[in-house]
Amino acid sequence: MSGPPFSPIAAGIVSHPSVDPAASPRVLVVEDEAKTRESIAEALRLEGWTVGEAGHGREMLALLEAQTFDLVILDWMLPGRDGLELLQHVRNRGAQTPVLMLTARGGVDDRVVGLESGADDYVVKPFAIAELVARCRALLRRPTLHTGDLLRCGDLQLDTRARIAVRAGEEILLSPREVDVLEYLLRYQGQIVTREMLERDVWKQVQRFTSLDNVIDVQIMRLRRKIDGEGATKLIHTLRGVGYRLGDEI
Ligand code: CA
Repeated sequence: MSGPPFSPIAAGIVSHPSVDPAASPRVLVVEDEAKTRESIAEALRLEGWTVGEAGHGREMLALLEAQTFDLVILDWMLPGRDGLELLQHVRNRGAQTPVLMLTARGGVDDRVVGLESGADDYVVKPFAIAELVARCRALLRRPTLHTGDLLRCGDLQLDTRARIAVRAGEEILLSPREVDVLEYLLRYQGQIVTREMLERDVWKQVQRFTSLDNVIDVQIMRLRRKIDGEGATKLIHTLRGVGYRLGDEI
């Protein structure tokens, strides 16, 4: 028999993880000027979106650590670390969340700097709130997941078709479930993956008759032992009471 190796994903047995389009988007607004921040937040809430607010970088990083957002609206001019530094920090950690920069600077150079630092779009102040909402919508439609058959994070690589994981050039033998979990973590790398997400999308448990928390914890522990072996940089992190995150150490 020839042809591509059997893939439960291609066969439709395991579906690609996907964000529920019906779920309300979660947007984080980072702006120190309270009036501006509040009016943006209010407009987004009117769209039915869930909005988090941060007045400075520390608050933003704490919120990103504790929750998962689908979009960050980040003001360039902030006290302490400015928007650009924060954006670079977040991108260096591997977070793929789309970021829309707000800037009073309209110079072409600044825009280029912003986009090259990993911003996905920018809006120049002053702006019409309707335009900002429209730009947010466009970014939210964009897939933020890592797509494709070959997923990578650092020296870890997973071929989702052949279902082969390799770290630092060495193949890692994984069970089918471990491959599913690893694929999910890689697609959401840099973001928080909760047990509920794994339960719903990997274990396909829709109703929680019995909690799978222990099963999931054990599975992650086994996977971690294989992926993050002795001497290797830790890639799978546990966020106590929240879930897991695959990526560099924060
Ligand atoms: Ca500001």
